[in-house]
Amino acid sequence: MSTRPGAMLGLLGGGQLGRMFTMAAQSLGYSVTVLDPEERSPAGSIAERHLRADYLDREALNELASTCAGVTTEFENVPAEALRVLAERCIVSPAAESVAIAQDRILEKNFLAANGFGVAPYTVIQNARTSQDATNPDGALPQRQPQFFPDLFPGILKVSRFGYDGKGQVRVSNASELDSAFAGLNRESCVLEKLLPLEREVSVIVSRGFDGEVVTFPVSENQHCNGILDISIVPARVSPEIARNACDIAIRIAEKLDYRGVLCVEFFVLAEGRLLVNEIAPRPHNSGHYSINACVTSQFEQQVRILCRMPLGSTSMHGAAVMVNLLGDLWQKGEPEWEQVLRHSDVKLHLYGKRDARPGRKMGHYTVLAETTDAALRLALEIKQSLQ
Ligand code: ADP
Ligand code: MG
Repeated sequence: MSTRPGAMLGLLGGGQLGRMFTMAAQSLGYSVTVLDPEERSPAGSIAERHLRADYLDREALNELASTCAGVTTEFENVPAEALRVLAERCIVSPAAESVAIAQDRILEKNFLAANGFGVAPYTVIQNARTSQDATNPDGALPQRQPQFFPDLFPGILKVSRFGYDGKGQVRVSNASELDSAFAGLNRESCVLEKLLPLEREVSVIVSRGFDGEVVTFPVSENQHCNGILDISIVPARVSPEIARNACDIAIRIAEKLDYRGVLCVEFFVLAEGRLLVNEIAPRPHNSGHYSINACVTSQFEQQVRILCRMPLGSTSMHGAAVMVNLLGDLWQKGEPEWEQVLRHSDVKLHLYGKRDARPGRKMGHYTVLAETTDAALRLALEIKQSLQ
């Protein structure tokens, strides 16, 4: 099937990342079919077609494979099996194998540690409190008695599957807190990770095509609030050396995974510029939304280009950008006054078309463009204040 503009592309998931993918695909002349079980979804409502079915529904997967030139995903919790089934019949990006690793914290951490990428010291916590694998910055440690990992306290217990935006995470400072936190997480497989003193957090979006061509986006500096991304500042306020290092690591991870698509690598920056990989996401990422307005090619257009086996676009950026997330909390007193955002000529507002503004739910974002990060940040915070 031709992957030229005019073709139909398939998308697993109908959230805001899918909506922005759909917009990028449509502006290049493609049509999109969304597979998402929800009746209403940000992507489903703007795509040419919306198949309302489970991700493993045979008929729906069959329909995608027979009508779409390629299929991609917008969230990492899509069953890897769906991608595997589709890959027998059409182009799939990213591959099931990559998604399977990124969607499971245990596989993800073990993959990173085994390949020499620095991660926070961690251990796997499973039902019988077994410590399957443990590591520290110096390499693998021998198996330890599960009840003794004092060096990981204070730590964060994170569920291995389906956690996002800080959900499924509990801070613990000793073995008894670990016990009750584990019980509170229904004794599902978890990773216990040492709580680290972060100087800051940064992320790199890397795109890698089917021919191995690889391009990174400018490094983003990310500030979180209650475990949810709040603000991204780009370029990150780190030394050129740290930025180069982060991009190198992101590229090496993509290559190690033989990744085909858009991948986000989140980092912790520790004292003296030490970089540890926090996690990877097999898709465009919230911290890359700035690229829609600030870069020649956005992360979503890059996703379309890779899926359609087109050359990658330039990720160069002029000046600086600050992206601010708009969470449902802002709607508690009614619809925010968008004039507060729109009256600024160098600010771009994006709303995802979600009806239900629940606290903590990502409803939209805005991006401030300016010559310097200082200027962009100043205006971004001023607008944030005016919306409260
Ligand atoms: P999620 O999948 O919810 O994004 P993360 O593992 O990225 O989960 O954690 C969310 C945020 O919590 C991180 O961006 C960081 O701010 C904080 N955090 C997570 N792990 C640690 C850690 N080991 N030390 C310090 N802060 C952490
Ligand atoms: Mg994260």
